Amino acid sequence: MSLNGQKAIVIGAGIGGLAAALGLQASGAEVTVLEQAEAITEVGAGLQISPNGLAVIQKLGLADGLAKTAVRAEAVNLRSHMRGDLVLRLDLARHAADQKFYCVHRSDLISLLAGAVRDRGIQVRLLQKVKSVEAGPDPVVHLANGARIEGDLVVGADGLHSRTRVALNGDDAPFFTGQAAWRAVVPNDPGLGPEVQLFMGPGQHMVCYPLRGGDLVNIVAVREQADWTAEGWTHSDDPDNLRAAFAGFGGLARDLLACVDKVGLWGLFRHPVAEHWHSGRVALLGDAAHPTLPFMAQGANMALEDAWVLADALSKAGTDGEGLWHYQQRRRDRAVRVIAAANNNAWKYHLRQPPVRGLAHLALRVGGMLAPRHMVRQFDWIYRHDVTAG
Ligand SMILES: Cc1cc2nc3c(=O)[nH]c(=O)nc-3n(C[C@H](O)[C@H](O)[C@H](O)COP(=O)(O)OP(=O)(O)OC[C@H]3O[C@@H](n4cnc5c(N)ncnc54)[C@H](O)[C@@H]3O)c2cc1C
Repeated sequence: MSLNGQKAIVIGAGIGGLAAALGLQASGAEVTVLEQAEAITEVGAGLQISPNGLAVIQKLGLADGLAKTAVRAEAVNLRSHMRGDLVLRLDLARHAADQKFYCVHRSDLISLLAGAVRDRGIQVRLLQKVKSVEAGPDPVVHLANGARIEGDLVVGADGLHSRTRVALNGDDAPFFTGQAAWRAVVPNDPGLGPEVQLFMGPGQHMVCYPLRGGDLVNIVAVREQADWTAEGWTHSDDPDNLRAAFAGFGGLARDLLACVDKVGLWGLFRHPVAEHWHSGRVALLGDAAHPTLPFMAQGANMALEDAWVLADALSKAGTDGEGLWHYQQRRRDRAVRVIAAANNNAWKYHLRQPPVRGLAHLALRVGGMLAPRHMVRQFDWIYRHDVTAG
């Protein structure tokens, strides 16, 4: 079924919403994006785009644009926290040479997607806060300003606090995952090469990688904490709080933390993966359907995959209902599996007991020595999954 002439409303101009707008328009829909913010922006931080997400960016015609602003990662180095000793080197350049893993500034990726949306004539309406969505064969979007908008198809790409999710799955508040993340971007004074560095400590870890031709370094520092008492789920913080929380981290990690002069802190909240991804002519995607911990760096990649599959499933089905059913069939189990892998990494990175941590690191070292290729390729089911193929 072609989407020709169908009026599609996409709620949210994040990575998922913009990609969905491009995919649906390419399938013939007339797309309008509704965004609550006054501008299309992203937090000043980095993002890892893995080959599975890149496959979608490629099909949207934006891979060259991404390559211009991103850094291609050649390896991921897992290190212990105290001195930064190497535990495991995942040599991507050697064992996954045919694949591209990118580190990109979030605002560069959003600008790329938003530029394509503009160039292709898709309407983006800013300052349009959605209050509620009426699902059904003739869906209606209600805005906070009292306006109502009808569409043939409504796509909720409205993130963790999605109103669309509520319409499809009822009102369940996101829960605190027991993890908080500081995010900062610093000048690359320590001269980090094109590799990801991950420092593992008791109850906390830190990930760093270069951005923008290697001029900048992105820092994500995650720490377990019992609860989240701050109002809202993100606020700016004093860099000394970050340094104090990671005082046990030495070597390169400490050098990088010394460079931080501006930092934000996020409580990591999530929902279970939504039971219902569609109802009537309304669908969910990205964080609205399945917020995840960032420990596999897959949230945005999964949003890109969802966006592609949604447009593909709709354009191949006989009816919208059939297309949306196929969309959920193709996506939900994979989302559940990827999220479980991310949760598992939280446990692996944060081992607290020194003997247990020592043994686990020894196992990784031995694995890296005996089967370096296997250590890289064990996540092929995530990275080599190409939703655009076939
Ligand atoms: C610390 C951290 C590090 C991460 N690192 C990575 C990584 O390396 N790789 C990766 O793939 N993922 C990563 N992620 C996850 C990734 O950022 C998210 O999964 C991804 O941005 C989700 O995209 P989205 O489009 O679904 O939602 P969002 O980016 O949340 O976009 C939702 C949009 O909807 C708008 N909106 C919300 N409500 C309304 C409303 N009522 N009306 C109108 N508009 C509305 C919002 O303003 C926003 O623009 C990380 C996350 C965190 C917290």
